[in-house]
Amino acid sequence: MSIQSFANQFVCDLAAYEPGKPVEETARELGLRPEEIVKLASNENPLGPSPKAKESMRAAIEQGHLYPDGGGWELRGAIAAKHGVEMQNVVLGNGSNELIELLCHCFLNEKTSLVAAEHAFVVYRLMAKLFGAEYKEVPDPGFIHDLDAMADAITADTRLVFIANPNNPTGTMVDGDMIGRFLDRIPDHVITVFDEAYHEFLKDPPDTISHIRNGKNVCVMRTFSKAQGLASLRIGYGIAPVAIADLLNRARQPFNANAIAQAGALASLEDSEHVARTVENNDAGLAFLQGGFAQRGLSYVDSKANFVLVEVGDGDAVFAGMLARGVIVRAMRGYKLPEWVRISVGTKAENERCLEVLDEVLKA
Ligand SMILES: *Cc1c(COP(=O)(O)O)cnc(C)c1O
Repeated sequence: MSIQSFANQFVCDLAAYEPGKPVEETARELGLRPEEIVKLASNENPLGPSPKAKESMRAAIEQGHLYPDGGGWELRGAIAAKHGVEMQNVVLGNGSNELIELLCHCFLNEKTSLVAAEHAFVVYRLMAKLFGAEYKEVPDPGFIHDLDAMADAITADTRLVFIANPNNPTGTMVDGDMIGRFLDRIPDHVITVFDEAYHEFLKDPPDTISHIRNGKNVCVMRTFSKAQGLASLRIGYGIAPVAIADLLNRARQPFNANAIAQAGALASLEDSEHVARTVENNDAGLAFLQGGFAQRGLSYVDSKANFVLVEVGDGDAVFAGMLARGVIVRAMRGYKLPEWVRISVGTKAENERCLEVLDEVLKA
């Protein structure tokens, strides 16, 4: 008998999450130095963490022998103050990915379902399956979430609807009016989750937190991994009505948010200059990349975030060709988009190198 015959079948059926290829590994394989590799594969901040966050994290290392504040008192307080909610509305996560898992832990099982868009962030599907739930995938014409169709897909067994806004890997978003109309249609047994990992990059972000203050069953997720540049620290948070936040808190591990991450996140929250620099670099880089794709006659999806989905023909081949030249992008076969790659916005020099290498590969 194989060990899998004793395991939960829905876990055996899972494919593990495929992360962007790490710099060190690529450098080793190509015989290059890590500094020579350009990684535009995971929507990280090309400017790095905030200098203030780095200073706070260095200081926090001195207390590395102590368990972190499991209640995250200071950070949750600062997040609550920033968003005009109570501390009891805030739950910290080991990255916002953990919040996705905690929501599924609390609300999903074999008798329930989760609704998401066809090209939504892949982790929703992985987590739904991990808890044995049905994953209902709703078509997203033009790569934009169709909120009417998503509301139509809700049944008596639905517990969670995930709206990635803007979505990864498409970079598209839905606006506040669409969201308001959608929430008016959602029954009480369903929690609507807004995954706002790229919130800081938006020019006119919908105010989803106001729906929590107005008593809707809404959870808003944010992360320090993207605009704040703390992806390696694994720290994110959810804002939800107290009854939901309380459940999420019971489901999490006691020290899920480590002290160094909490220190870095707290300092990042207060460093709006670093976020402004990051957004400025991103606006310029996004315009450069999208302009470059247009010049080359490549279709792309107009992005609101810090990455672009671009149609290159054979996504796997372009990924491999660029990788061989030291530029890591993301192939999209896992999203059923084999003709596309997703490219994160880097520094000016990285973006230029990216288009140079893309040209070489497309000519080859
Ligand atoms: C990057 C990303 C996250 C953030 O994940 P962390 O666990 O916070 O690093 C969440 N949702 C989406 C859609 C993302 O693209």
